[in-house]
Amino acid sequence: MRYFSVVDRRALLTAIAAGAVLSLTACAEHGIPGHVHSTTNQPSTIRAVPTPTPTPTPAYSPTPTPIPAPVLNKVRIPGGAIYGLPVADGNVMAWTVDDGADSEVVAAYAQIAKVSGIRLTFFLNGKFPSWTDNAPALRPLVESGQVQLGNHTFDHLALTKLSDSGIVDQLQRNAAFIRNTYGVDAAPFYRPPYGYTNAHTQAVAASIGYRAPVLWYGSLSDSGLITPDQVVQFAQQWFLPHHIVIGHANYTPVTTVYSQLLAILRQRNLQTVTLNDVFTP
Ligand SMILES: [Zn+2]
Repeated sequence: MRYFSVVDRRALLTAIAAGAVLSLTACAEHGIPGHVHSTTNQPSTIRAVPTPTPTPTPAYSPTPTPIPAPVLNKVRIPGGAIYGLPVADGNVMAWTVDDGADSEVVAAYAQIAKVSGIRLTFFLNGKFPSWTDNAPALRPLVESGQVQLGNHTFDHLALTKLSDSGIVDQLQRNAAFIRNTYGVDAAPFYRPPYGYTNAHTQAVAASIGYRAPVLWYGSLSDSGLITPDQVVQFAQQWFLPHHIVIGHANYTPVTTVYSQLLAILRQRNLQTVTLNDVFTP
């Protein structure tokens, strides 16, 4: 809602005391977007403007406190496949999520990231409509860096069974999808489908900028359908410092146990990180 033209607002802002302006800044620093919007767009909160009724307190949906990007000593990407995180830094764990066969699961991951602040890396396949369906929800998280997108090939094909041009085509087609849908470049990180990788596929991928094949050290084992309890058990087994853990956005059980998975992270004082948080490209 705008009650005043830009010129009116400028005049108002000039007229009000510097203290009021400072308080706007303070609100912004506290990261309460609702405050900033209502204060800047609704001059009714400024004393000089008569207000017949008090401005109602906005009914905030619980806005999560944004968790700032961790400040870590990044390390260079090592040569060859990456299985874990550099050990120099604290209790960090990379929660990676692959595929995206079920759009509801991708939506649920986007939502839990938004409300909890966990940092995730998705290795997505552009062939799944879930990544188009959920782009509006994911884009702000990608833009802030809380969510990173890595390349998992467009069609989820085993790179070791493709010709060189097939490998290039699969990675580039997916890269184009990610760029067109999210405006980001997934390189140099990619995850070879099924974990099938060798020196030759790595050399071919590296020739087009994909120098970092990311594997894992621990899995929620939910690429197929398992029970929610099993997902929790695998998290208990593998949510550990410096681990890269793989999960899948393919079946709904994981979405029913997020609170338990987050509790494991909390109990173990684990901080989730994206690959960009710990590696320098
Ligand atoms: Zn996969």
